[in-house]
Amino acid sequence: MNRAREKPDSKSGVTCDGCGANIPEGEDREHYGQVLCEDCYMDALSPSRTCDPWAVHSAKRLGDKTGGLQTNALQDKILGVLAETGGIEPRELAQRLGIKPVELERETAALRHMEKLRGELREGRKYIVLW
Ligand SMILES: [Zn+2]
Repeated sequence: MNRAREKPDSKSGVTCDGCGANIPEGEDREHYGQVLCEDCYMDALSPSRTCDPWAVHSAKRLGDKTGGLQTNALQDKILGVLAETGGIEPRELAQRLGIKPVELERETAALRHMEKLRGELREGRKYIVLW
């Protein structure tokens, strides 16, 4: 009854469930039952760790399509709210406008590409502000 583990690593060598890296002793983190390395743990905790919340490549793709700098009605509304609030969390913005987060993301990505708004981290939270 001593052949319990399939993994050769015991206490001193833990493998990250996220990226498979070997985690030095004492640096493993637990997250919802997963053992994660520091990096994966940070990722798991803060998906918006990068300061650019919206993928640049999707903005580019959108930009190629629209090509111009014209905003649509919804985008105008978004900019209006930003001007009014001086910055707002995406979730709240979507609520205000009564649209789905995914719709908001599409519009903000386009607006980002037009350099009309940008993402900003305030105390670790993601905000959308005017450019
Ligand atoms: Zn990892």
